[in-house]
Amino acid sequence: MKIDPNLILLVISSNEPVNPAVRTIGIILASILFALLFLVFPIMLISEWLGMVPARKIRARYRMYLGEFPIYNQLNPKDKIRFEKRVQTFINQKKFIPRSKGLVIDDRKKCMIAGTAVELTFGLGKFNFDHFKTILIYSDNYYSQISKQYHQGEVNIRGLIVLSWSNFEKGNSDRRDGVNLGVHEIAHALKLENKIVNRNYNFIDPQDYRAFEECFQTFSSGYGGGQGFLRDYGKTNIHEFFAVCCENFIERPREFKRKAPDIYMIITRILNQDPATYH
Ligand SMILES: [Zn+2]
Repeated sequence: MKIDPNLILLVISSNEPVNPAVRTIGIILASILFALLFLVFPIMLISEWLGMVPARKIRARYRMYLGEFPIYNQLNPKDKIRFEKRVQTFINQKKFIPRSKGLVIDDRKKCMIAGTAVELTFGLGKFNFDHFKTILIYSDNYYSQISKQYHQGEVNIRGLIVLSWSNFEKGNSDRRDGVNLGVHEIAHALKLENKIVNRNYNFIDPQDYRAFEECFQTFSSGYGGGQGFLRDYGKTNIHEFFAVCCENFIERPREFKRKAPDIYMIITRILNQDPATYH
């Protein structure tokens, strides 16, 4: 290519002093760009990774397992994304610890536990089980030194959710029988959050809770709705009743609504969602 020497001369001679206002704007823009690249973006990424802020999207390696949740499959595309973000946030914020020799906490285990927590609380805005930071996982039934018995799972007020993986999987193997260990234990954690003073404190409307207590009194005395549908273990105390109701609410909402409409409606108010209306 041939270059005109006159043109080079013109370019060199155009090296005039820069307008101070233009220079100031340039410096400001460069500073903003520098701050975004080296301060703001890295801080955002680290905060998200540490679970200090909600996740902006789910990682593909977790998303691939969400199809195992019937409720997720029934959501519209916008709600699906909301569900995904909450699953990723839960995973970022919790510590998953294996308690049995050889047990590996893989992506699917994390996603299945997080998805169970999200499906139960999907109607509750920013609910993320702030008090429960650690999930302990055993391979199978485990022996509790406190109760001197074998357990399938439990929730500890110190901020622990304990699960046995074989029973968690068994609960998910039939999503229509109203028995689901994962939902059961997460429901206990949810109910405890209502009593712990944090941002989820008292999320249950006292009037709804009183109505729920009345349902428990009727159910545990052998009368009222739910007899023969909700398993009798729910008669143990109000906490077990709530957990049993949640299992049925998630696994067979339409049947629950038909068989025990009063109890079902209270649970829809407490959890602010109605899975019986999902497609
Ligand atoms: Zn229980």
